This record gives sequence, structure tokens and C-alpha cells, in this order.
Amino acid sequence: MDLKIRPFYGAFINGEFDAESAHRFAAVNPATGEHLAFIARGGAAEVGRAVAAAQAAFPAWKALSYEERSQRLFRLADAIEADAERLAQIDARDIGRRLFETRYDQNVAIRHYRYFASVLLAHEDFGRPIPDGYLSARREPLGVCGQIVPWNVPAIMVAFKLAPALAAGNTVVLKPDEHASLSTLELCHQFAKCLPPGVVNVVPGFGEEAGAALTADVRVHKLSFTGSTEVGRLIGRAGAERIVPVTLELGGKSPNIVFPDIDDMDAVVDNAAFAAVYCNGQSCLAGTRLFVHDDIYNAFADKLAAGFARLKVGSPLAEDTTISCLVSERQGKRVLHYLDVGHAEGARLLVGGRRREVDGNEHGYFIEPTIFEASNAMRISQDEIFGPVLSLIRWSDHETMIAQANDTRYGLAAGIYTSNLRNALDTAERLQAGSVWINRYFNLADGAPFGGYKDSGLGREFCRETLNAYTQLKSITVQTSVPPAWYLPS
Ligand code: NAD
Repeated sequence: MDLKIRPFYGAFINGEFDAESAHRFAAVNPATGEHLAFIARGGAAEVGRAVAAAQAAFPAWKALSYEERSQRLFRLADAIEADAERLAQIDARDIGRRLFETRYDQNVAIRHYRYFASVLLAHEDFGRPIPDGYLSARREPLGVCGQIVPWNVPAIMVAFKLAPALAAGNTVVLKPDEHASLSTLELCHQFAKCLPPGVVNVVPGFGEEAGAALTADVRVHKLSFTGSTEVGRLIGRAGAERIVPVTLELGGKSPNIVFPDIDDMDAVVDNAAFAAVYCNGQSCLAGTRLFVHDDIYNAFADKLAAGFARLKVGSPLAEDTTISCLVSERQGKRVLHYLDVGHAEGARLLVGGRRREVDGNEHGYFIEPTIFEASNAMRISQDEIFGPVLSLIRWSDHETMIAQANDTRYGLAAGIYTSNLRNALDTAERLQAGSVWINRYFNLADGAPFGGYKDSGLGREFCRETLNAYTQLKSITVQTSVPPAWYLPS
């Protein structure tokens, strides 16, 4: 398939790519080291022009009827669907994740544009009669939204940001991650076809440059960020300075809890493995702290270790690969460092634990799926490693286990496996996490609110509620006649 990757991508502003850029950086295949393209290293100048374009496009986009905006989003979803295989192939080369996953990302993203195209139609304003009149409260879009996303699942991250913002009537300047810009820049061809110029603008570049300029621009009226908690704090501070609303989707270190009454241990083992290593573990949602009850611990640990050992480590482009390569050398070294930390703090290695060579992909950091028997207090159980590394934790006392599951700075997701529904619901109630999945990890149903407790973030995406985060309420009262002013004597 001809991937049609261009030699150079400028910023996408007002419906067109910049032809030139004073500064550029290279997109490189992390598995093979192959050069893929040069990309403009955007800064304050590009952000300034992009925000001006988004500002100019805002009144007309806002004025479109809900039906018209909805149609545009449906059209965009169709256009992406027609191009999905190419975009998935580009992502697999750009970020090193296996094709199976990057194809799945496209499906989720397409569904997401359609979800907001539909839900927008039911996002009604509300009103009620008041004496001799009527109160109406209208939801108005906020204006230009500045959106910044990470590298791990570009198609989904971009859809999570754009779909609700556009549906609600805002215009956008989006900064993709410097390790994963290509598929988003290619998506700009579809934006050009389906949306008026200036409604979506994309400024590639580095966080401290394009990202910081976008965060600081006073014409941006909403900030939405997905990435690390550390950078999330910076974005939150910038929002506080300028009094603009902020949505933050940040890190995670999610507990996944196995009760002794599970019916089908093999199925739970598979699901728990999937929870830990999907995306090569580079997922904010990964279930990286697996709590297994003492009664079944030994049998479960044996099966899990055997299952991890069977996972195929291979090229991102091979159809039978389960674990592929990490996004960059930096990320690879970070994960290898945490393997050393695990050994140093006395965790027992059950399986994996090494970098693997993959023929033809010698540049890549392929890390074996790894299980450490660990305690919850260890650093490998507390820090977000963002690699295929699981802490397996034995538990016996229910109260202690709940306390440990919650003993983390994060609170993004949690999993529970049990055949006892009451137990599942009681446990779900007590877990400090934005999403709790019972008997199926990663159960991301469209419309299910998604977001974090604690250091995992602020706000919810993926659901109807998200439209509220991209709008503000205006109340308008109407009286049928003008009453005498209350301060005049009668
Ligand atoms: P990161 O915070 O370093 O980078 C994310 C984005 O922020 C990138 O586009 C980067 O260029 C930009 N950025 C960096 N510094 C900036 C600054 N000073 N000002 C403005 N923008 C800046 O994150 P990362 O390490 O590349 O990504 C992984 C993190 O993202 C993990 O912590 C992961 O859990 C989190 N994540 C969260 C979710 C979620 O939905 N909660 C989803 C995916 C990833």
C-alpha cells in the first residue's frame, strides 16, 4: 500500500499546510530507525497564526445548526474510515505499536466522531416558565480550544479532543506529540475536505515550544490536555492564571483485583495479561498492579507467567505480533531502568525482564512482557512505568487489599474479577478510580464517562457530559411586559 507520506509536513493552518518552516524535526520509525519525514517544529509564530485562524472561523462554525455540525462530523468519520488502513499503517511505523492495535485505534476514533455527531443532537438547552415570563439557559461554545495530546494512541487521543470540541461549536488548535505526529498531519487532508478552513488547525512541535505557546495564548478559551501529571499541572496552572476551564487526562497505575471465586481462571488470566500489556503497556489505563487472592495465587501466577512467556514479541508490522516496540529509545531506557529498580528493591522476577532483539528491527526497544512478584509499596508498583511490566501482589485480607488498591497517587481505572455481583459492586464503590471494569478490563463503552480521580486528572471525556466541558451556560430571561421598577414608591 502506498502510504503517501510526504517528505515534509508544515503546520496545518486555516485549511492549508505551511510550505516551509524555519525549524524542523524528523519522524523516525522507532523499530527500524528508518527516516519517515521531516516535520515543522512549530513555535509561538505558528501557534499565533493558528489561533488567529481558529478565532476567525469560530463565529461561522458556532452559528451552524446542530444538524449541520453533526453532518460535518459524520462526513469526517466516513472520510477517516475510508482512509483508516493507511492511517493505521502510518501509526505502526511512527510509534512502533502493532498493526492490530493501530487498526483498533482507528475504529475507536471513527466511532467517537459518530458518537458526538449523534449526541450533539440531543444536547438540548433547557428552560422553564417564571412569573410572567420565561427563563432559558443556553449552552454556548467557549471559542478557540487549545488541545495537547500524547503519543501512545494518536488516533484515539485526537478523536477524544476534537469530536466533542467541534460538536459543541468550538474551533481548535491541536498540538500532536513530537513522537507521533504523522497520522494526525495526514488526517488534516480529511479536515480540509470536511470542515471549513480554520475550524481545526494542527501545529506540530515540542512541548516546551509549540505546547507552551498554545497554553499561554490569551485568545485560547479552553485548555484540554492528555499526558503526564507533571505537565498537566503546568497546564492547570496556566488555566488558573487566565481563568479558562481545563480538562486534564493524566497518568495511571491501576489496580486489577482477582477474587478467589472466579469461575474461569484461564479467561481471567488472559484478560489480566491483556490489561497489563496492551499497547506494550504504554497505556494510562493499563492494569499494572494485579492483586490476586492467596487461595488461588500459586495456580494463577503459574498460568499468568506461562501466558506472558507465550506472547509473541515481534515487528509492529507482523500480523502475529502481540508485543512490539516502545515508542523511543528514551522510553526503552526508562523501562529498562525500572526493571533494575524492581530487582534492586527485592521484587521477584517471574518472567521476562529483558530487552529482546527482533530481526530487521534492531533499532527498537522490544521489552519482554515482565511480571514481578512485588509489594504495593515498591516503586515499581507506585510509579507509572509505561511499559509491559506488571506488579503481581498477593492479598488475603479484603480491607488491606482495598486500602492498598487505593494507595496510589493515581485514580484512573480499576478492574475486578469475581462471580459475586454484590461483592463486585461493593468493591467498585470503594475504589478511588474514574472507571471500574467488572469482569472485563478496558471495557470502554462509547458514552461511558472516562477520566481520573486524584492525580489522574480533571473532567470526563468519551461521554455526553463532555459537551458541557466545551460549553458555558448563559441564562436569558424573557418577561412579557416591563414591570415598574421595584424601588419606585407605589
Ligand atoms: P507528556 O506530558 O510529556 O507529553 C504529552 C504532551 O504534552 C506532548 O504533546 C508534549 O509535547 C506536551 N508537552 C510537554 N511539555 C509541555 C509543556 N511544558 N507545555 C505544553 N505542552 C507540553 O506525556 P508523555 O510522557 O509523552 O505521555 C505519556 C503520559 O500521558 C503518561 O503519563 C500517560 O499516562 C498519559 N496519558 C494519559 C491518558 C489519559 O487519557 N488519562 C491517555 C494517554 C496518555
